[in-house]
Amino acid sequence: MKIGFPNNPRKDLLKEIEWIGKNKFDFVDLFLEEDQAVPEKIDIEKTKKLLRKYRLGVTGHTAWYLPIGSPIKALREASVKEAVRYFEVFSKLGVEFVTIHANWPSGMFSEKEGIKFQVETLKKLVKEAKRFNLKIMYEPIDTYADNVKNVSEILRKVPDLFLHLDIGHANLFGRMPEEFIKKFRNKIKHVHLHDNNSDKDLHLPMGCGSIDWEKTLKTLKKYYNGTITLEVFSKDKDYALLTKEKLRKLWNKL
Ligand SMILES: [Zn+2]
Repeated sequence: MKIGFPNNPRKDLLKEIEWIGKNKFDFVDLFLEEDQAVPEKIDIEKTKKLLRKYRLGVTGHTAWYLPIGSPIKALREASVKEAVRYFEVFSKLGVEFVTIHANWPSGMFSEKEGIKFQVETLKKLVKEAKRFNLKIMYEPIDTYADNVKNVSEILRKVPDLFLHLDIGHANLFGRMPEEFIKKFRNKIKHVHLHDNNSDKDLHLPMGCGSIDWEKTLKTLKKYYNGTITLEVFSKDKDYALLTKEKLRKLWNKL
């Protein structure tokens, strides 16, 4: 199992990678997003050099607000165009898997229509990604619609799509992370880890919310030994470092 950390896309990417490397993470979860980590602002050679210096792996992550499920066709098409700009950067940096987030249209549209819009865009994204030797992972987010039933349908309709399991998101609306792990065990290629009180998507350090980590990680370890990103958004990053130590210890013990 490998533990990674994301760059804050509102900050200088190289400085962010430097911190991740110095604090001995295994990989960078590369958040290519507005407004500092956008393709036109990234120095590929310097980024590569820094990743090499700290022997950091890298996984790809696009903006959570990419409108892949918008009822407006032109916006769905624009989201593909925008993602392709990111795919170019990811492929130059040696990324294999890229995250695309779920995106549900507002209340005027049904979940069924939301699935239809997203499936249409995801099929295009999977096809475009292949040109860059990239694979797409779908990350369910923090809405009521991101349940096992809807996610299953999307994965079934887009055959080459993989799953990015965000354990915090899988703990909302009475959902249980274990049901996602068991159901999608053959599709999970990446994991985000953070805690919450099962009510709001708080991105807390591990152990500060209601998730039963021993139980959840025991189930995960049965099927998975890949990359886990600490998506702990505390202002004081010591809490992320503490989560890293706690996760490593608990994982080894299970
Ligand atoms: Zn996440």
